[in-house]
Amino acid sequence: KKILVVFGTRPEAIKMAPLVKELKKTEEFTTKVCVTAQHREMLDQVLSFFKITPDYDLDLMKIDQSLNELSARILMAIDPVLSDFNPDLVLVHGDTSTSSMVALASFHKGIKIGHVEAGLRTYNKYAPFPEEINRQITGRVADIHFAPTQQSANNLLNEKVNEKDIFITGNTVIDALLWGIQHVNEGREDIKEIKQFIDVNKKVIVVTGHRRENFGDKFYEFCNALKQLATREDVQIIYPVHLNPNVQKVVYDTLGNHNNILLIAPLDYEAFIWLLNQSYLIITDSGGVQEEAPSLKKPVLVTRDVTERQEAVIEGTVKLVGTNQEKIIKEATILLDNIEVYSTMVSNKNPYGDGTACVQIVNVLKSI
Ligand code: UDP
Repeated sequence: KKILVVFGTRPEAIKMAPLVKELKKTEEFTTKVCVTAQHREMLDQVLSFFKITPDYDLDLMKIDQSLNELSARILMAIDPVLSDFNPDLVLVHGDTSTSSMVALASFHKGIKIGHVEAGLRTYNKYAPFPEEINRQITGRVADIHFAPTQQSANNLLNEKVNEKDIFITGNTVIDALLWGIQHVNEGREDIKEIKQFIDVNKKVIVVTGHRRENFGDKFYEFCNALKQLATREDVQIIYPVHLNPNVQKVVYDTLGNHNNILLIAPLDYEAFIWLLNQSYLIITDSGGVQEEAPSLKKPVLVTRDVTERQEAVIEGTVKLVGTNQEKIIKEATILLDNIEVYSTMVSNKNPYGDGTACVQIVNVLKSI
């Protein structure tokens, strides 16, 4: 069986890397990797950490390209790859333009599609934008759906996807994390720099934020909350700031030059998971971080109003706090001051799996 794995962004690369490794171990498959490089540097560092060399590199990143231009270029560029390798199955991931456009292109050519991290939904077309529609498009054209949880499988069943085509496997992000945390090189310059900032007597809050739905006023509220939290003597904030100019401006205007706050460039995955492991608390709007942090026994406050990751909220591994300044401060203060609430939160089981998702996916692919 010939399998083509296609991805283009950092989070997709992280979540597909352990699957590529597992597929390549399997003799009955010929596995090739195609990257659209929708993100360039952020993708390359993940490939290098997991030691994956793509067979096809479409190199599609361009500064300021619109979603329509990117989508059209993906459709055009993937077509000859599909003709050249002529795979029996294309595997795409999640909710990116790469996912939806490659799925559509494969469908046009009559090639079967497997969707990894299938079935996540907010059912709000604009949150997250454009991801919600990307994953719905991929879901409509996919033939096999690897749902991380029962809830994502239920979403697909409600959309009349055939039960026999849905497999609940957990999320491959945990596989990536458990492998990754064993392979961190603490001698890296970026890690050494962060170590110099960290005061072992203080509680480290790690922050990330990059979602379009939070840009504008909401981002100011979020940053003001962080500024307020940083006035506490017992706290340090470390924030790898996303490169999007909408994020950079607000963050540096609000939080620049504060000696309790370390603003740094986005970290390589290797350094980032090391940092997560040093944290006491995480404040983020990232999807992947919510899924991986509970496996490191770290609590997460999610600065969004809606979530496609209800399992984490229900299980109590994360708390959805929105972007209201007072609310963020209140919830963070509880976790900083109330050890019982903190301990309960971190002892909850991670609903996204135990690091066996890739083996489960490969077993399914062998059986069909
Ligand atoms: N991540 C990283 N460096 C950073 C911030 C995040 O490598 O500076 C990783 C993180 O461990 C997670 C993934 O990137 O696995 C999440 O990506 P992002 O937040 O960009 O996207 P989302 O998960 O929300 O789609």
